[in-house]
Amino acid sequence: MVSVIKMKAAFYTLGCKTNQFETQALERLFSARGYLTVPFEEKADVYVINTCSVTAVADKKSRAAIRAAKKRAPGACIAVCGCYSEQVAENEIKACGADIVIGSADKSRLPGLAEEYLKTRSYTLPAPSGAFDFMPAGGLSTRTRALLKVQDGCRNFCTYCIIPFLRGELKSLPLSVAAGESARLEREGYREIVITGIEISSYGLDLEDKPTLSDLLDAVCTAAPDTRVRLGSLEPRTVTEEWAKKAASYKNLCPHFHLSLQSGCDKILRAMGRRYDTERFLLSCEILRKYFPGCAITTDIIVGFPGETEEDLVATLDFISRFKPAQAHIFPYSRRKGTRAYSMPAQLTAAQKAERAERAAAAAKKTREEYLKTLSGKTLSVLFEQEKEGFCVGHCREYIPVYVKGKGLKNEILSVTAQEPFKDGLFGIIKEN
Ligand code: SF4
Repeated sequence: MVSVIKMKAAFYTLGCKTNQFETQALERLFSARGYLTVPFEEKADVYVINTCSVTAVADKKSRAAIRAAKKRAPGACIAVCGCYSEQVAENEIKACGADIVIGSADKSRLPGLAEEYLKTRSYTLPAPSGAFDFMPAGGLSTRTRALLKVQDGCRNFCTYCIIPFLRGELKSLPLSVAAGESARLEREGYREIVITGIEISSYGLDLEDKPTLSDLLDAVCTAAPDTRVRLGSLEPRTVTEEWAKKAASYKNLCPHFHLSLQSGCDKILRAMGRRYDTERFLLSCEILRKYFPGCAITTDIIVGFPGETEEDLVATLDFISRFKPAQAHIFPYSRRKGTRAYSMPAQLTAAQKAERAERAAAAAKKTREEYLKTLSGKTLSVLFEQEKEGFCVGHCREYIPVYVKGKGLKNEILSVTAQEPFKDGLFGIIKEN
């Protein structure tokens, strides 16, 4: 018997859910060409490093991953894509050990380019297509949660953000394709679909018949009626009475909404170029809580933006305690060359930003604890994902980690009675049928 030695591909992802989706899709595309996926720490023939450039720390991690892959397998093809590779000169990335550098557009071309490189030690990069780069959804290793990328690019140009320069104009996935992918994911046994993109609130603005995010939600929830659907990050402007009323009619939509706040101070929101104020943000929270009682609202907050005074920070801390997020990711402002905020006066020191981030994280921790208490005693529907330290762990529809005693529950959705806060979420007891 002749045994066929499979080529091996390893993947490393930094950054947002869109990057995670793209890496999952690349795994599928490499697998379709006969590659075996191996952990990034192992020897492989191809290493794909999907980079991020949203902060200086992400830049550093991107460079470190490239160097690590090169050191591990000097003869392998090191392919680098993503925002960092868009931001920095190709030579600089190649100096770290990369063989192929393709930026953010058309990542689906990567498997072909890697094979070309392995054969010839060179590659020819085609001109960017400018179109939505369709890639298949759903990771290979588990059928628990599939990311579905419906949109790329952004035209908002918030003053701190480098993404619109790196990911370019809005590009959306046509509704019919989104529906087809959702139906396929349900057929293949995925239990949850997460709608992702760079700025999904602008979904469809670039398409001819201008479908909205509401239309997209309808397409996905209807095409996969037995699969949970979760929305990625929303801009507060999206949430209107009409939008929420329609969204609440889908039984499979999870009551978990990530609304990007960024600052709880109106002066800073204006300086950031955000298109809402704290009052509009609160209105969005009120509407969501009216149509989805008990829902989890999560958020991102940047502290230490140029010109942020102590009073401005206190305004943000007060705002956190007013709108009570179930979770807030706190980021110290990271200065990105090429953005307007880069050259704003009154930049804060790293130490000031770190101190502010700590205070904001403490405020957010308090509201998370309050939210967890509201769930205690309630019946939660939990999708189990893994076993860890003697527990089965999954997420409820509100996206809180839930721990139960047990084994072998992966990919099951069970009713669980929430008990007390435990680790990063809740301890629960599985309900008898
Ligand atoms: S909405 Fe603002 S923060 Fe989000 S990607 Fe676009 S420019 Fe960046």
